[in-house]
Amino acid sequence: MKLMTGREYVSSLNEYNPDVQVRGKKVTRVADEPLFQPGINAIAVTYELAHHPKHQDIMLAALADGTKVNRLNALDYSTDDLLKKLEMVRLICKWTGCGQRYLMHDALGALAEITAMIDADKHTDYFSAFQEYLLHVQKHDLTCATAVTDAKGDRSKRPHEQADPDLYVRVVERNRNGIVVRGAKANITGAPYVHEFIVLPTRAMQKEDGDYAVSFAVPVDAPGVKIIAKPAGRPEDAEAPFSSNFGQSTALVIFNDVFVPWDRVFLCGEWEYTGKLAEAFANHHRHSCIGARAGLGDMIIGASALMAEYNGLPHTDVPHIRRNLGELIRITEGFYATGVAASVYGRKTVAGNFVPDAVQSNIGKLMLAEQVYDLFRLAHEISGGIVVTAPTPEDMAIPEAGELIDRYLVGKHGVTAEERIRMARFLEDLTASKEGGFYALISLHGGGSPEAMRMSAVRHYDMDSQKKHILHKLKCFAKWEGTCKECETCVNDDLCEQECESVTYRQDR
Ligand SMILES: Cc1cc2nc3c(=O)[nH]c(=O)nc-3n(C[C@H](O)[C@H](O)[C@H](O)COP(=O)(O)OP(=O)(O)OC[C@H]3O[C@@H](n4cnc5c(N)ncnc54)[C@H](O)[C@@H]3O)c2cc1C
Repeated sequence: MKLMTGREYVSSLNEYNPDVQVRGKKVTRVADEPLFQPGINAIAVTYELAHHPKHQDIMLAALADGTKVNRLNALDYSTDDLLKKLEMVRLICKWTGCGQRYLMHDALGALAEITAMIDADKHTDYFSAFQEYLLHVQKHDLTCATAVTDAKGDRSKRPHEQADPDLYVRVVERNRNGIVVRGAKANITGAPYVHEFIVLPTRAMQKEDGDYAVSFAVPVDAPGVKIIAKPAGRPEDAEAPFSSNFGQSTALVIFNDVFVPWDRVFLCGEWEYTGKLAEAFANHHRHSCIGARAGLGDMIIGASALMAEYNGLPHTDVPHIRRNLGELIRITEGFYATGVAASVYGRKTVAGNFVPDAVQSNIGKLMLAEQVYDLFRLAHEISGGIVVTAPTPEDMAIPEAGELIDRYLVGKHGVTAEERIRMARFLEDLTASKEGGFYALISLHGGGSPEAMRMSAVRHYDMDSQKKHILHKLKCFAKWEGTCKECETCVNDDLCEQECESVTYRQDR
């Protein structure tokens, strides 16, 4: 098994020749494209951290034979693995904002479960195709983008009802060697600088959508794949101390009659399993998003605390600064705790791997989606207007203006204007710039829109047992003044029902 370094990952991109364009120009060598460097840097960190002795416990996972692989390329086999995955994503995102590569971890986990499920029900052979693919990914230490979100067109219509039949990715041909797929996936993270794409359905399909029920993997440069990408972060922007170094590209990925051999097909026509697959991915991925945004929260907390100090208002001395920092911590650790709970309450699937608890992971993702805006507001309140008004580097470079800026924008004694401005720019970059807006949107919509999370949480929540419990309690309390001898001692549902009947009988009497 290979464990690439960051540099090896960057040079491995030269072995591929994808059809990529960015800002209207064709990219000839992805690894050298300045507009992608922040995104490439972020993925390189996921390779580098795996070589760092301090982080190997969470960055590496052991296979059955003891071989170590990057945890991002491994399945979770215990609740402890789920917890380590969460911690790993937090660590990566604390460095990079978004390590991007965790989407593939989540796709692999979902495919393991659902391919095994389909095989068990339908005697197909998808699980062994998946296992072979997993081995391929691990052997070469690959990074795959995960393409779930279809172009979708009119959101009120199902795939087969769209005016253009290619608005969801579909199978247009099946033959002895494989399938041919056509359509487009939108908003795909990291698309230009990965090795392969893992494609999953975005929603539950009906029988009429059978051709749209498809999941597969292809190299990034498979003939017919076209990538229309956005720049990653704010490359070469002197006012962006963070996102000139780390960011993520997203892309529209078009599959224009792309051939996929059968050994890379994980679902083809089994429409009844599309919802399960989409939901399994979402469950893993929303759990990862919790770790990712906790990493963002960590950065915002650290920078806000420093900004307060540079302003001469350390949280140790100023009550409202302390309260606002406390709120930042409450939000970050609050949603992170749901990720811990989702790990602890994880369950084993038919494939033997573990998935996080669906209610906890959906609620955690919902919390961060809405509360990321509060993180930004609190950081702004603590730091002051300089977050968006700091003079530009060009003005600071002119001696006369530079001197005035140094004199008048200085912070507490001992902190230079330059230090204060650098911290303000860092916070602007994360919370108030185009990149800040990006972090808001990725928190809100990445992994599904908030309504999708509410729906999933309600679907997985054991509502029936809660309703039953209340009806039961009402019956008992009515007669026995808040305590019921039988009910207090019953510990499982069967016994409960029996006891209820006895209570009803006594009430009737
Ligand atoms: C920065 C970023 C990175 C991303 N990276 C990836 C990635 O790597 N891979 C990937 O597959 N996806 C990725 N996504 C896509 C993400 O999963 C989607 O944005 C999300 O699922 C919402 O889909 P949408 O953007 O098409 O919005 P829409 O689905 O159009 O949602 C807009 C609104 O319409 C509502 N809505 C949608 N459909 C219906 C309906 N039928 N009935 C009623 N209301 C409806 C939604 O609830 C929402 O309020 C990324 C998104 C972002 C912002």
